[in-house]
Formats: sequence, structure tokens, C-alpha cells
Amino acid sequence: MSTEQLAVQQARKAFLTGRSKPLEYRIQQLKNLSRFITEREKDITDALRKDLYKSENSTQLYEILGLVGEINLAVSKLSEWAAPRPVSKNLLTMSDEVFIHPEPLGVVLIIGAWNYPIAVTLQPLVGAIAAGNAAITKPSEVSSHTAEVLELLRHYLDPEMYPVVTGGVPETQELLKQRFDHIFYTGNSTVGKLVMVAAAHHLTPVTLELGGKSPCYIDKNCDIRIACRRITWGKYVNCGQTCIAPDYILCEPSIQDKVIDEIQKCIKEFYTHDPKSFADYGRIINQRHFKRLIALIEDSTVAVGGDSDEVECYIAPTVLRDVTSLSKVMQEEIFGPILPVVTINGIKEAIQFINEREKPLALYVFSSSNKVIKQIISDTSSGALLANDCLVHYTISDLPFGGVGNSGTGRYHGKYSFDQLSHLRSCLIKKLNMEMVNQMRYPPHTAEKLRW
Ligand code: NAD
Repeated sequence: MSTEQLAVQQARKAFLTGRSKPLEYRIQQLKNLSRFITEREKDITDALRKDLYKSENSTQLYEILGLVGEINLAVSKLSEWAAPRPVSKNLLTMSDEVFIHPEPLGVVLIIGAWNYPIAVTLQPLVGAIAAGNAAITKPSEVSSHTAEVLELLRHYLDPEMYPVVTGGVPETQELLKQRFDHIFYTGNSTVGKLVMVAAAHHLTPVTLELGGKSPCYIDKNCDIRIACRRITWGKYVNCGQTCIAPDYILCEPSIQDKVIDEIQKCIKEFYTHDPKSFADYGRIINQRHFKRLIALIEDSTVAVGGDSDEVECYIAPTVLRDVTSLSKVMQEEIFGPILPVVTINGIKEAIQFINEREKPLALYVFSSSNKVIKQIISDTSSGALLANDCLVHYTISDLPFGGVGNSGTGRYHGKYSFDQLSHLRSCLIKKLNMEMVNQMRYPPHTAEKLRW
């Protein structure tokens, strides 16, 4: 029996003991997860420095803070989330109990990605634990140092219920052959399709947290200086390797120069004139992605940055100008520190440009006009829409986080994680009296009964 098979078998056995159902157990496991983060903070920080050259502060801000918030929220709200949810009754059920009973699904497989390898791997685990499931966690092998640290979870969580399985594509494929009750995958859309095919063999439901090209429309009626500050932050944090990073800018030709100029100023302000030596500017995860990104730059006109160092996997914060929809950089998700500016004539053309492509994970609009913002909301579709800022919708636990169409299926964060990994079971408890009320439904269906 393979390691993967064994882990799944043990997790199922553990789940069937029923010990993950009591809320006290779930809360204890969530607290243990919290303790893992506190006690292993240095290991986590060191690993992320090695994997992605993340600074200690970036790790705190972008990996730990949100995760700890999600754990604390689940601990404080669990009894409310897990409680039966009464629903409105009709005439025939007036004296009955009608409610929704959230119950665990069973064994969940969580497959993580490498770009925020702590946050995107452990946040789904928070939901799985809170909902009372067993869960196999498969960290990304691409961020290998972080995967090693995640293996230490065995000292904190119930090891049979929540095993961590490490390895590469073959190990993930072996896991995908097993039967799960839910698969929660974060990563690119191509592998997302393979996950969905594997899940279909067992009719296993999936959550797919995918990526894509998130557009950023800058209306000429807006404070371009402020817009560019926020966009520069959202684009170059983690070296552009953020699933909801603004992928490209859409704006009118008349403001292109101003936009580029403002972004250039912000790059200098945030990362100095020498980002390569600056401790808080990351690196591309590996040579494969580095080469992929360099090919995108070579194909276009560089307005800002463009320099790189293959040995260090360094690519400067880069802006490309006058990019056309046919250029290479517009054919795939960039996932790196390259920001193309595509010019269009007005909001109508921007909407058409967006709608001709796959539905994005996030859509950003910068405008002082509420009418423009509302028009973008009503005439387009995306996982999330954010006006006049970037990324921060991710931090609001009450907003469901997820994609639509090619950018994913399902949603999580806060109570949405709990619901996503629960079965919302419909329950109706009738009494055995009041039989008169039921006469109408019993045959024979005579005209007399119907009149009643
Ligand atoms: P990755 O290469 O680490 O892959 C993710 C997981 O898939 C890994 O555990 C890996 O073992 C497995 N995998 C890879 N190839 C496989 C195959 N052929 N068969 C089975 N399993 C396989 O991560 P990635 O896909 O490069 O991650 C980046 C992508 O993830 C981007 O598209 C980004 O937008 C997206 N992403 C989305 C979110 C979100 O919340 N929506 C968050 C982070 C990243």
C-alpha cells in the first residue's frame, strides 16, 4: 500500500470513530493549529525566505495575520455555525421542526499552491477542521522548504485525522486516485481540470481556487496618483505572484503616460531605486517561471524596469506600454512582476475587452464616478469586484472568496469555509398526530377531498 493510500485509509478510519464531531475536539484542534503557528513562527519565516525571499514582515502580514484571524473567528463562532438553522415553515409543517443541520462531509483532500504556501494551504484546513472533517493536507512541492515545515503539523494536530502528505506530481496523482468526500484545490486552471476529472470518478465535490488574468480598469475620471499607489502595491507584492494581483491595466491612451509615470514613482518609493538589493522585494519561485516571465518581457515594449538576474531569479518591477491583445503577455496569467498597459477607448470598450475573455478571479476598477463602478458591476462578471483598491477584499471574512468559471468554483473564508466543507442537511421532524391534515394527499384523490 502506498504512503498516500495509507494516509487516506487512516484518516477515514479516524473519521469513522466519530471523534472529530464534538465541537470541543474541533476547537482544540484549531487551537493546536494556532500553537503550531506561534511556536514554529521562526521556521515558517525562514522557510518562506528560502522559498520566495519573503521578508519577516511580509510573512507576518500576508501569510500569518489572516490565517490567525480565520482560526480565531472559527473558534469564537463555531457553536453558532454548527447549530441547527431553523427555516420558515408552511401551513402543513406549522407544528413540526424544520431545520438545516450542518454535518461533516468526511475526508477532505487539500492541495495547496506555492505562492502563499502557508495561507492557501492552512486556511482551507481551518474550514475542514471547523466543519468536523478529517483532512489530508498536500502542500506544494514547489515551495519545498515550507512543505517541510508543514510536515511538523503532526506534532500539533491529531496525526491520523490530519496527516500531511508531501511529494510532487506523482504523489498528488496517487492521492487523486483515492476516494474523498471533498477535494479543495488551489493552483492553476490546467491542473484544476485534472483534479475535477479525478474527482468525477468518485462523484466527489470540489472547490477549485484557481487564477487567471485579473483586469484593472483605470477611468480617466479618478485620482490617478492614488490609484497607481494602490495598484503598484497590489501588483508587486510577493513579486507579482499573487492569484488576485492586477494582471494588466486597461486605460484610455490619453492617460497612459501619466499612469506609467506614477507607477514608476511608487516603485522607487516602495522598493528604492535598486529593488534587487532591497530586503522587502521578493524573487521568482524558480528558473522555470523566471524563463517563462522573461519571454513575456522580451515580446513587448518596456516602459519601466525590465532588468533581471537569472541566477537569483530576480526580475525588476516592470511596466510594459502599448501592449496589444495579441501579444504573448496577454495570452496567459502573468503571475510575476510585469504589468502591461493596454489602451482602450472608454468604458464600453473596456467592458467588451473584459467580457471577451475568461471570467477573472478579481476585477479592479478605479474611478471617482459611482456610475462607472456600478456599470462595471452590472455589465461584467468575476469572482470578486473591488473598486478603488487592490487585494484587500481577501481580508474580509464575510465576503466569500473564490472564482467563477475559469477562475474557479466554490468559495471560502469565515463561515463560507465552514459551509463549503459541510453538508447542509435538510431535516424535517414531524409528529405522528394531526393525521387529518394529511387526508388530501392520500389516494383516492377525490373531488371532495380537493374541495377540503
Ligand atoms: P503548484 O505547481 O504548486 O501546483 C499546486 C498543486 O498541484 C501542487 O500540490 C502539485 O503537486 C499539484 N500538481 C501540479 N501538477 C499536477 C498534475 N499534473 N497532476 C496532479 N497534481 C498536480 O501551483 P501552481 O498551479 O503553479 O500555482 C499557481 C496558480 O495558482 C496560479 O494560477 C494562481 O493564480 C493560482 N492560485 C490561486 C489562488 C486562489 O485562492 N484562487 C491562490 C493561490 C494561487
